[in-house]
Amino acid sequence: MAQSYRAFVVEQAGEEVKTGVVERPLDQLAEGEVTIRVAYSSVNYKDGLATLAKGGVVRRYPLVPGIDLAGTVTHSRDPRFREGDQVLVTGYDLGVAHDGGFAEFARVPVSWAVKLPRGLSPREAMAYGTAGFTAALAIRRLEDNGLKPAGGPILVTGASGGVGSLALAMLAKLGYTVAASTGKTGEHDYLKKLGANQILSRDEVSAEGRPLGQPMWAGAIDQVGGTTLAWVLSTMAYRGLVAATGLTGGAKLPTTVLPFILRGVSLLGVDSVMCPMTERIEIWQRLAGPLKPARLGDLIAHETTLEDLPKVLASILKGGVRGRTIVKIG
Ligand code: NDP
Repeated sequence: MAQSYRAFVVEQAGEEVKTGVVERPLDQLAEGEVTIRVAYSSVNYKDGLATLAKGGVVRRYPLVPGIDLAGTVTHSRDPRFREGDQVLVTGYDLGVAHDGGFAEFARVPVSWAVKLPRGLSPREAMAYGTAGFTAALAIRRLEDNGLKPAGGPILVTGASGGVGSLALAMLAKLGYTVAASTGKTGEHDYLKKLGANQILSRDEVSAEGRPLGQPMWAGAIDQVGGTTLAWVLSTMAYRGLVAATGLTGGAKLPTTVLPFILRGVSLLGVDSVMCPMTERIEIWQRLAGPLKPARLGDLIAHETTLEDLPKVLASILKGGVRGRTIVKIG
């Protein structure tokens, strides 16, 4: 086994932070029972925030960011995992307060590790990553509250991003009629290939409008927040269901109670980080089977390396990334 490993590290430098790939001794691995040779990680919006001095997500420096990883167990101090097991980890403190996936090795608490389900490769697991897991969790929240394909169209906002692309592709695979909103006019073809039946512009869905507009959607998955989520709420059909997953457009929600009390709209929260393990395993099994989009590994995902991370991380913060970026490590 190697004595050192390469890691992309973010460190404090005065008021700022700096990033770079460094070689570290293996004994600098974080605490935990399970040591993993990382094959792939992935880039999420939160990883972009982790490289900003005031990003609000990192809780200690120096830190290896990367809120997702998939790889092979090289050592386990807990009988639940054995050397050679393929595992994935997403969420918890990974990549925010505990060294994450942007490294050749990681060590994590046993309670965070999920055995890779049959039907899912480590690369596919990271093509999903936290974004895909969150999209699947949002779909589950909607379905648990009664959403069905026959109920009417579903809107996905910020549709060209990670959560958006995967929510759109999975809903289309499940037989839903899906509308997609995007700020990228050049990605309409991409969204149609993922299964969008209708495309709306970001300007249209983020405009400050009336408290209640034309009722259009039986369901929605919104990862933008701000005035977009307010617009979504105001255009829901009677008893429409909205899953809120993100804040790329802002954390404030400038709405009124009218969608809730006049149309019976439900706003459902989605948190992937602390999702209980039983549900986590069920969702990963569903991602390995019925939810898996045909073009997950090529159309939706593309690869980068540890060295190229600064470019990708800067781009995701500007809303410039399409689909998912996998970090090939092992
Ligand atoms: P991405 O950057 O991949 O996707 C975000 C998309 O949002 C962009 O591609 C863009 O899509 C749209 N967007 C970007 N900036 C703006 C803006 N200013 N106004 C409106 N739309 C914008 O990010 P992720 O998919 O990784 O994450 C999306 C959001 O979900 C983030 O806020 C993230 O923190 C959150 N999240 C939450 C999780 C949870 O557990 N609740 C888990 C994972 C993510 P387009 O150009 O098509 O409009």
